[in-house]
Amino acid sequence: MPKPSVTSANAPPTKPLSGPQKALRKLGLDRPIDLALHLPLRYEDETRLVKLRDVREGELAQVEGTVRHSEVRITGSRQLLVTLDDGTGTCLLRFFTFYPSQQKALAVGSQIRVRGEIRGGFAGLTMMHPTFKPAGGPLATALTPVYPTVAGLPQAYLRRAVDAGLARAELVDTIPSVYLSQIGLQPKWNMRQLLSFLHHPTPDVTLAALQDHSHPAWQRLKAEELLAQQLSQLQAKRERAVLRAPALTTDDTLSCPPLPPGEGRGEGHPARQPLYERLLATLPFELTSAQRRVCEEITHDLHQTVPMHRLLQGDVGSGKTVVAALAAAVCIDAGWQCALMAPTEILATQHFAKLVGWLHPLGITVAWLTGSQKAKERREMLALIASGQAQLVVGTHAIIQDKVQFHRLALAIIDEQHRFGVAQRLALRGKLVDALEPHLLMMTATPIPRTLAMSYYADLDVSTIDELPPGRTPIITKVVNDARRDEVVARIRGQIAEGRQIYWVCPLIEESEALDLRNATETHAQLSAALPGVMVGLLHSRMPVAEKRAVMGLFTGGQMGVLVSTTVIEVGVDVPNASLMVIEHAERFGLSQLHQLRGRVGRGAAASACVLLYSTGDAPRLSETARERLRAMAESNDGFEIARRDLEIRGPGEFMGARQSGAALLRFADVVADAGLLAWARELAPLMLDQHPALAAQHVLRWLGGKAEFLKA
Ligand code: ADP
Ligand code: MG
Repeated sequence: MPKPSVTSANAPPTKPLSGPQKALRKLGLDRPIDLALHLPLRYEDETRLVKLRDVREGELAQVEGTVRHSEVRITGSRQLLVTLDDGTGTCLLRFFTFYPSQQKALAVGSQIRVRGEIRGGFAGLTMMHPTFKPAGGPLATALTPVYPTVAGLPQAYLRRAVDAGLARAELVDTIPSVYLSQIGLQPKWNMRQLLSFLHHPTPDVTLAALQDHSHPAWQRLKAEELLAQQLSQLQAKRERAVLRAPALTTDDTLSCPPLPPGEGRGEGHPARQPLYERLLATLPFELTSAQRRVCEEITHDLHQTVPMHRLLQGDVGSGKTVVAALAAAVCIDAGWQCALMAPTEILATQHFAKLVGWLHPLGITVAWLTGSQKAKERREMLALIASGQAQLVVGTHAIIQDKVQFHRLALAIIDEQHRFGVAQRLALRGKLVDALEPHLLMMTATPIPRTLAMSYYADLDVSTIDELPPGRTPIITKVVNDARRDEVVARIRGQIAEGRQIYWVCPLIEESEALDLRNATETHAQLSAALPGVMVGLLHSRMPVAEKRAVMGLFTGGQMGVLVSTTVIEVGVDVPNASLMVIEHAERFGLSQLHQLRGRVGRGAAASACVLLYSTGDAPRLSETARERLRAMAESNDGFEIARRDLEIRGPGEFMGARQSGAALLRFADVVADAGLLAWARELAPLMLDQHPALAAQHVLRWLGGKAEFLKA
């Protein structure tokens, strides 16, 4: 057993300097400007003393008084209890850890100044672990900043570092003042004064306006941050605009302006009829008008010599796959190769099956690449891809590995783009042919609310499928207490008797260990016992790929009645005969995630349902917010509406995926609350780039440093 380190108690408290410095680096606080822009979470008022008579519960108070009583209680947990009297009242100070020296400083009769949060309770006013020092010292003249920090980085150290950064940072104003006055920000202060104020506000300011960031100084800072975000994205977009991609046109479309699909092309030449037309003609359904519109948008982009950079968003089940297939057809018609990459093997398999089903009869060779593939098969596939014989390649991350040589890659389609890292998307660009960039189509089933699209995805073109194919029966969603599990199982029996299939989703196994949730294995055993004669399968992320594939095959094939799984089925799985989805511990999931899951049913004509099982744990009932969230799920089937509510409740992180690690995440501004500033920044960004390019560059450098590179992916 390692010995507990006891030596440090006696040794002088000299921490190696590298500790806090490392922590600073971890926070990304490298340059003086990074430190200057590391703004307080809140402030503490050490500029005044209050009387105990006047304090309220929950308030952070600084009080001076005399110690009337001091004792170490040893029953229960060891505590030092001190009673402070300031002449207007008393307050109990509780310490759970304390050194003898501290105990001495808090001896009866000592005059001390304490600062802490006031709590009520049996014993009257209480402070837990207040900071304290001898009474009578000078009071602070400005509010004391409290910074966001990490373990190993004490506030005092961080305060000194920030002050030093503030002194050394270069802080010229980068936004011409006429633009600031457009949003009512009179440039009364320059940047240096502004930041000094935000770090050390004078005590006369309304603390509330500082805390909720409505103060003009905060408004200015948020405006600056939003502008940096817009500038960097616009810059990335403009840089892409000078890159070259192959124009994916056929000879007859080259000579005339692009035609809307379905008109004119290939007429009179049945033998030369483009794949695009032939695919449309053989599909077992008509495209919805939304699908037709996005196909036109994509086709238009593909005809250009500027690489496409487009996000295709559409609710679950809106039919993105066929749009991807048609985009691939445009590419193949022009004589180029297309790659489609999906985040999981299951999803890639489904795409492969679907695309082969559509395209193979039309004479197209589709190659298949995944990490789990046998070496021989893989060699064959690589050869097909390198020779150009395979016009379409479907697979997982395996597609972007070094060994994969395309013959003529011109279009890369990425499904569920938020699951891929920036590096992976950049790797696709490494597959250039003759310095030509591939066109990029990213797809997502998590609709991005408009505000987010405008801020975080300003450099992308967005196509939206806002309509579901006809004939879908809406999914009925029910919120059910886990205590009524038996009724749910009875319902499953009924559905199975009708020949239907059921998904049962459990939270991730990793999490369930920590959170003591019922895990998938246990549920699987339970359902197997409760449903004799029914094949109940189990699918979770830790299973070997071959096993996953076998289980999924049995479910898609219809032999398996119930599939118990962790969220691995979250994206893309398409089994139209599945009509009931049960989600266990629904209260643990994000709304958009629940919506994604629910979208796995209701794909056929049968009436479908989703049961959101919730568990209250030890509590008698679910919290009001949790109930409200689940109720929202039951009330709405509209992914956009749900995404909007999710954004309100959980913030943008859910939507961002890889971009979260990039520069685009806003620290201070909030795209919903600061929509006005966002609109201003969007308008200003092109003006700044055109008319004040040097200031714009300086502005981006200040806010993003080298991180703007992330946006190029
Ligand atoms: P998602 O957008 O979630 O990826 P899919 O592409 O998997 O949706 O499509 C869901 C289902 O709807 C599939 O079975 C697909 O074949 C079918 N589908 C797509 N477009 C149409 C349409 N226009 N009419 C009828 N069914 C369609
Ligand atoms: Mg899909």
